[in-house]
Amino acid sequence: MEKMLNQFSIDSQIVIAALKEYLAQSSSGQGPAISQRPAEELIQTLDLQRHLTAGDLTGDVLQRFVGDYLRETTRLHHPGFLAHQVAAPHPTGALGSLIDGLTNNAMAIYEMGPAATSIEYFMINWMLQKTGWRTVETARQLDPNSDHAGGALTHGGSLANLTALLAARGAKVPDFWQHGNPGNLVVLVPEQSHYSLKRAVAMLGIGEANCLRICADSAGRIDPRGLARQVVDLQQQGRRCFAIAANACGTAAGLYDPLHAVADICQEHNIWLHVDAAHGGGALVSRRLRHLIDGIERADSVVWDAHKMLCTPTLCAAVLVRQHQHLDGAFEQEASYLLHDKEQPGFDFISRTVECTKAGLGLKLFMTLAGLGEAGLESHVDRLVETARRAATLIAAQDDFEVAIEPETNIICFRSGESDAEQLEIRSALLNKGNFYISSTEYRGARWLRLVFMNHQTTLDTIEELLEEIREIRSGLAVPSS
Ligand SMILES: *Cc1c(COP(=O)(O)O)cnc(C)c1O
Repeated sequence: MEKMLNQFSIDSQIVIAALKEYLAQSSSGQGPAISQRPAEELIQTLDLQRHLTAGDLTGDVLQRFVGDYLRETTRLHHPGFLAHQVAAPHPTGALGSLIDGLTNNAMAIYEMGPAATSIEYFMINWMLQKTGWRTVETARQLDPNSDHAGGALTHGGSLANLTALLAARGAKVPDFWQHGNPGNLVVLVPEQSHYSLKRAVAMLGIGEANCLRICADSAGRIDPRGLARQVVDLQQQGRRCFAIAANACGTAAGLYDPLHAVADICQEHNIWLHVDAAHGGGALVSRRLRHLIDGIERADSVVWDAHKMLCTPTLCAAVLVRQHQHLDGAFEQEASYLLHDKEQPGFDFISRTVECTKAGLGLKLFMTLAGLGEAGLESHVDRLVETARRAATLIAAQDDFEVAIEPETNIICFRSGESDAEQLEIRSALLNKGNFYISSTEYRGARWLRLVFMNHQTTLDTIEELLEEIREIRSGLAVPSS
């Protein structure tokens, strides 16, 4: 025992020291943002089989392994990391991951993690308040006659989207639990929506062909007039649209759909409104950006990822519903309250999630927020968006670059050169060099380079350097004169 404790003390210091060095270097732009050696080579370099057999991962050996591992990471704290909507996590939040890993309080039920469950409950209420919904004290949490809001944390926004659509079907088509889906169900999703929505509809057994795209305006946002016509057309065909999803914001270009107009249509036709705010929910913590997401309070369900704009380590996503009963109704028709029918000091989340065993997700979010402070979180979000908007202005001012649309949040689509193929070649050349890691996307029928601003090390200077590197790449590409 004594030996194990000593070893833990020494080894954890080794790991923390290595991480500190890593954080310092990545943040100051050292090491590539990305470098992808072949998997087979890495398995060799990291000496995986030998460590597995020897069971020797302690002391100097551990130190070497951690060093090797960190060298081969994609560096999210690096100023050149501009590729994906994943937080460069706050170190205090990362300590939450460590605490959760060691204590392993798999808190699907209260008794398996009273502190973890209480924190999840507390953070859900924090998110519900930001959404503009009613919270309630724990004792009345399960009162079926109360119409307060509710929610749960899940392992990611994709699972949260699935859960939200399950809740929608439970509420609008309650008979499905016994008898399966009627054959005429339809879900409408925005043109720019994340693939997990379509996938969720297919998983619900409704059929991918019945997940229809909503008419979009020229920027790709939901066109409310087109949507209203679509709903009426579907009704006339005898098809039943029970849920409509709106983006806040969309994945490709980061645009917010007009939530009030969509909510009006849902209200008129008794359709469930789901708002996918996995990324753009960040606007809920910012007084400057809150207007972008106005109307979210009229949704029936909302998905909001903390591991995107809220600086929290993966994974930590929330599925929130305006009326708490609907979340339990997602998984059971009547009996859900029986699960809770025992005397206990806290609340079991198990009936509200696909997962049974669940990590202490709330701890990571809480520790991130408590490390930053609420004001710190607000300025984090504000600064990311501000930098992106200024970068877009800078890029648009260049003769040899084009910006797809003025950004509303921390996502920019831009391109240089004529062809779609060229954009992919540019991206691939950038990644090979490793100074910048960016993504690309289809948006309104063309291929764009895409930047997502996730950390404060990225400045306008970084973007100037990126543009220079793209110019160099382009001059090196054998561009045939057409
Ligand atoms: C990221 C994202 C998702 C998926 O969330 P994961 O946590 O990656 O599973 C869903 N919808 C939108 C709009 C997103 O940005």
